[in-house]
Amino acid sequence: MKLYNTLTRTKEAVTPITPQHVSLYTCGPTVYHYYHIGNLRNAVFNDTLKRVLLAEDNHIHHVMNITDVGHLTGDTDHGNDKLQERAAKEGKDVWEVAQYYTETFFNDMNRLNVLEPTRYVKATETIEQQIAMILELINTGFAYQTEEAIYFDTTKLKDYGKLSGQNLKEKQVGVRAEVVTDPDKRHPQDFALWFFTVGRFEDHAMRWESPWGEGFPGWHLECSAIIEAEFGDTIDIHTGGVDHIGTHHTNEIAQSEASHNGAPLAHYWMHIEFLLVDGHKMSKSLENTYTLNEVTARGYDPMALRLLYLQSHYRTQQNFTWDALDAATNYLHRLQAWADGQFQAGAGTLSDDSFHDFCRDILAKLSDDLNTPEAMVIMSQLLDDFESNLVMPTAEQVGQIDALFGLGLSKRLNITPEQEAIILEREGARQAKDYELSDHARSLLKDQGIELDDTPSGPRWYRRPQTS
Ligand code: AMP
Ligand code: ZN
Repeated sequence: MKLYNTLTRTKEAVTPITPQHVSLYTCGPTVYHYYHIGNLRNAVFNDTLKRVLLAEDNHIHHVMNITDVGHLTGDTDHGNDKLQERAAKEGKDVWEVAQYYTETFFNDMNRLNVLEPTRYVKATETIEQQIAMILELINTGFAYQTEEAIYFDTTKLKDYGKLSGQNLKEKQVGVRAEVVTDPDKRHPQDFALWFFTVGRFEDHAMRWESPWGEGFPGWHLECSAIIEAEFGDTIDIHTGGVDHIGTHHTNEIAQSEASHNGAPLAHYWMHIEFLLVDGHKMSKSLENTYTLNEVTARGYDPMALRLLYLQSHYRTQQNFTWDALDAATNYLHRLQAWADGQFQAGAGTLSDDSFHDFCRDILAKLSDDLNTPEAMVIMSQLLDDFESNLVMPTAEQVGQIDALFGLGLSKRLNITPEQEAIILEREGARQAKDYELSDHARSLLKDQGIELDDTPSGPRWYRRPQTS
């Protein structure tokens, strides 16, 4: 398998540290809001990566964090804690906010057929490990303390910023434009490992004892501490959105590599580009930050959204429009009609040999840096073949396609024995030219959402697509 590595800026063949065992870490949700369709694109991207690794016979150890403390409204230490702000707005306490949005996140993942990670780890469950990492960084001279916080000293690390390719000077210019509140911070691009509950954080609700006084961890630290606890120094693949390259992942690398004598944090760094809506950045003021609930309330199947994501490559921006979701819905219906073919006895089935060729070609596209749009083109050829020659898939073949795309095609139910009897009865009436009876049977089935096509190899049924 080949993947584009942000760190080396090239497409590279993936060689896991332990052959056929991939360690994967993904920066998960900050649980202060409903996931929007941009975040969901990120979730489906990670899921597709896993499905392709699995198809290539790898075991996957996948860990995802849940950020329930420390993520400030600005990624670079300015602003307030996102959860605390939300709690104040909703009149709840921070723990309730975290629990509520964690649950809605799990719910969305289920509805989008996203495979569960091996483990979810909450930032608040790993405070001890985070404190231990800070101690290590202080002892080795990478961290210093002020009255407000403990900071990572970015000038102590030779290759700080290597992920984005930005050098320290460029980074300093970027950060300086933001509000720096602590006069004792040595360099503008230094970042907090631990905030004390003083000054603007005097009322911070989530707080823990530490060797240096009460406070709470900075956002970047949780990922470094979780990776160390779950995997050790180095993992194979680390993923996240492109917005994480310059600050969050850069700082994860700094903390982990400084703590581990320069051992690389991850061999492959993958970043997904943003989803736009109607050509615009998603933002609250444009009211275009749609949630999955809003999408389904308009009558769309979550699988249509999943399919829409697969139609673009993760390294390009994708533009969401409702028209594009309509088109994805039509494509989904074609796929579902194909999958329903698995239940139709007697029709010609797709030979395992030719299916194997299709699958091999699809997997070849997916293994080439997750080229999902081209994989979908090959899938279309399979559908064309089905639609023009009526070659039905077997249940196993549908299962294989499902394993790759996660579109829930296997989950579709067979028709009931009663419906099957009506189809047979209607076919008898049709052959006896009893059109009244045959039309009656057809409309009976139609009421139950089943349509019929009379084909040279006999009647073929399919479920009428649900219209939005
Ligand atoms: P958050 O819960 O805000 O920390 O975001 C979760 C993930 O969604 C992060 O990895 C972001 O990079 C990613 N993300 C945020 N906005 C978008 C977007 N418009 N398109 C794609 N991914 C996004
Ligand atoms: Zn992270």
